[in-house]
Amino acid sequence: MFYRSTVTDRPALSLPAIHASHGGCWLRDGFATRGVGKGDAIVAAADTPLLMLNAPLVASRLGYPDLSGLDLLELYAFIHPARFVVPTPKGLAHALDLDEPRGDDSVPLLLQQAAEALLAVCENDDWAEREGAWTGLQSLIRMRWPWASLLTQRIRKPAKAERWLFAKLPEWEEAAERPQPAQVVLGDASIATRLAELTGQDAETRPAQQDYAREAAKAFAPRSTQRQPHMVLAQAGTGTGKTFGYLAPASLWAEQSGGTVWVSTYTKALQRQLRRESRRAFPAERKGKPPVVVRKGRENYLCLLNLEDALQGGFGGRAAILAQLVARWAAYSQDGDMIGGDLPGWLGTLFRKRGIAALTDQRGECVYAGCPHYRKCFIERSARASAGAELVIANHALVMVNAARGRDAAQRPTRIVFDEGHHVFEAADSTFAAALTGAETIELRRWVIGPEAKSRGRRRGLAARLADVASYDEEGARAIAQAREAAEALPGDGWLARIVESTPSGPLEELLSAARALTYARDESGGQDAGYGLETEVAQLDGPFIEVAGRAQEALEALRKPLVRLGLRLEALIEDGPDWLDGPARARIEGARGAIGWRTDLLAGWIALLARLGGPGDPDFVDWVEVERSDGREWDVGLHRHYLDPMKPFANTVLAPAHGVMMTSATLRDGEDWDSAIARSGAPHIEVAPRLFAAESPFNYASQAEVLIVTDVAKGDIPALAAAYGRLIEASGGGALGLFTAIRRLRAVYGRIADRLARGGLPLFAQHVDPIDTGTLVDIFRDDPRASLLGTDALRDGVDVPGDSLRLVVMEQVPWPKPSILHRARRLAGGGQTYDDRIIRARLAQAFGRLIRSIGDKGHFVVLSAAFPSRLLSAFPPGTPIRRVTLDVALQSVAGSVSKPELTPSRPEGIS
Ligand code: SF4
Repeated sequence: MFYRSTVTDRPALSLPAIHASHGGCWLRDGFATRGVGKGDAIVAAADTPLLMLNAPLVASRLGYPDLSGLDLLELYAFIHPARFVVPTPKGLAHALDLDEPRGDDSVPLLLQQAAEALLAVCENDDWAEREGAWTGLQSLIRMRWPWASLLTQRIRKPAKAERWLFAKLPEWEEAAERPQPAQVVLGDASIATRLAELTGQDAETRPAQQDYAREAAKAFAPRSTQRQPHMVLAQAGTGTGKTFGYLAPASLWAEQSGGTVWVSTYTKALQRQLRRESRRAFPAERKGKPPVVVRKGRENYLCLLNLEDALQGGFGGRAAILAQLVARWAAYSQDGDMIGGDLPGWLGTLFRKRGIAALTDQRGECVYAGCPHYRKCFIERSARASAGAELVIANHALVMVNAARGRDAAQRPTRIVFDEGHHVFEAADSTFAAALTGAETIELRRWVIGPEAKSRGRRRGLAARLADVASYDEEGARAIAQAREAAEALPGDGWLARIVESTPSGPLEELLSAARALTYARDESGGQDAGYGLETEVAQLDGPFIEVAGRAQEALEALRKPLVRLGLRLEALIEDGPDWLDGPARARIEGARGAIGWRTDLLAGWIALLARLGGPGDPDFVDWVEVERSDGREWDVGLHRHYLDPMKPFANTVLAPAHGVMMTSATLRDGEDWDSAIARSGAPHIEVAPRLFAAESPFNYASQAEVLIVTDVAKGDIPALAAAYGRLIEASGGGALGLFTAIRRLRAVYGRIADRLARGGLPLFAQHVDPIDTGTLVDIFRDDPRASLLGTDALRDGVDVPGDSLRLVVMEQVPWPKPSILHRARRLAGGGQTYDDRIIRARLAQAFGRLIRSIGDKGHFVVLSAAFPSRLLSAFPPGTPIRRVTLDVALQSVAGSVSKPELTPSRPEGIS
């Protein structure tokens, strides 16, 4: 709950406040607000610390990157860690129970009121997040955090010393291994009853959902043949209610069998929704343990050892303040998930650095039981909780990685529902790929040797992590020393600059330098696209390149051999069980064994990639060389290898060991055709014929939606494109989602229309422009029916905004696939244009799916395309009206029939 302070139009705290939007700047000093120019705003901010909301965003609106001041979001993160707030004036007003600002000019007053309300909380006896605040504040005072002096007067020193974060967090407990699940067959009647319990509806009212649930149950039947799981492919149009449709049999099976079901998603939005909805399917705690656990890759969670290091001097300047705010959050977080969990997505971007990533376990340097926080570690807690859970909510990549190299066979998923099943192919494509690049190889070097001398922090190399093994086992010590020496051949700090200057050091840098030179030599773009990546196929390589590659291959082999030997020594050690190998040491060595195992596999993949250069091509793979660039800057160089069909390794690694797998989505098949869905499920690789099921959406698209193909905006004409976007957004009064296939065009359009729209009271936000993470951008968009959002791929099917906040989707053009080397190979194997058409139809269907999320939604889907091929029209649901029109006609249509936002407030997310 929040505590309303006595806020009036004249707050007692009269700190000056600034607000800047695309529509202008407003400064409040004393008790009056006035519009000011950007120059005056910057001078005022330099004179005295101003109250502001989201300093990086204000800085970008003012065009003054060095702006600093009293950012209310930082204060909010300190006072209410782990609490959600939409980081806008309106969102802050709602969170603090203040009146919404009527317009931009009333925002500075709101900022003053919000500051006063937040500071007043500290003086309230009921402040829920008081514990730890005084101690944290003492550190923040030393760091000269701008809010510290204002808080000092209000936060009283506790009578008893506060518990330090690391003492306060609870310890996880080891649990006995679970027996294997019982073999059960679910009856139709019990499924229908469970479904009715979940939906709270008369079971007769949604026959499609009932059929769907019965079909989903087939995936949970006992398996009759080894390496042949039950497979169900189920397409369910938006609104079928597929989440409860599969949770009904999943929860029944988990309850009756004592086993675990994994539900895997592709987007964080669906993961959040599942977390909410699964509470109904798995309501009670079982013997004090949560039945539902969200499980993510370790790089998502806070590493307490990294945090401790940051708090004790590993982070300096502003990053040290971030570490203190993260420590506040960690004490109140549900599960320590920093990416998409309860850490506000905006917190990291306030500090303009990669601070958040440095606090996670990105590099696999965990020392497991050697870590003083091991028993409180969020990652270990989540792994243990998932072993005992009935439902694990994960993502596609994690399910695949866990199946491929999970530490513990008992934790590998055997009953899996892949929701957003149309993304399994993409996830498998990146999981089973090899990338021998500068960024990857320097990571390996740091893992073996440790970071270079000038870097701060606790990171240590292999020798330091396994010092006890080295002192006990001579052979192990030799292997560590040899690995360390061999790792010197990998790229070191400054590798990219050396490669760009053609002064590589060592065999791997020489390879990367040759790869870069080759890519530029073969570049056909004539320097047109300086901001984007360049690639060339691995073919027709000359002798010198093959020689350089040969030397790099030798260097990688020289590293792999001692690592393999070290892995074997560790295994022997675990079996021998010497006296000093107590429980924690054993866990640490088992952890190291696993980490070495997957690095030797990584090296084997790189060696295989190099070994094939100059020889005949392997039809299973597509290899290429790439220079990765963004914003005109190179950031990685290297060789890449992808499976032509990544479902082959997926089938062997994930499907074959499983007992039941369901893949479901609103866009699984292509029209009525199942062929590509079956091929992309991996089932043919293990000779399984999946069960097929389809349910149409219950929505009435004929009356709820209209597709308008605008034929008079010429392709490539940026001013015309921007004008079209601007006018369409004005016609709908905001509430528009603009989808682009190129960041360059997105930025150009945004730059031309944002100011004008803002002056009309229509705020515009954009991915790749605003310094705000994508999840927060969607929260802002959802919260304001007059706001519009421009974005690229991630928004095409990661946005779930039912209600009036989204009533127009505009695609800048037909979403053709990027003509990459990988795409060319798959296109050739997949039937040429038929292959492309299927991809485009799937993209259109996913984008259209954003528009109508509930039975009451209405809206327009606009594609700006002079020549939209008719064969793509089947992407839209049957019955949807489709017209080819001029822009003027489209504008009339959008303006005429779209409900205006002020009449109907937006509703929170949530429908499958
Ligand atoms: S156990 Fe590993 S991941 Fe967990 S806090 Fe310690 S070092 Fe970090």
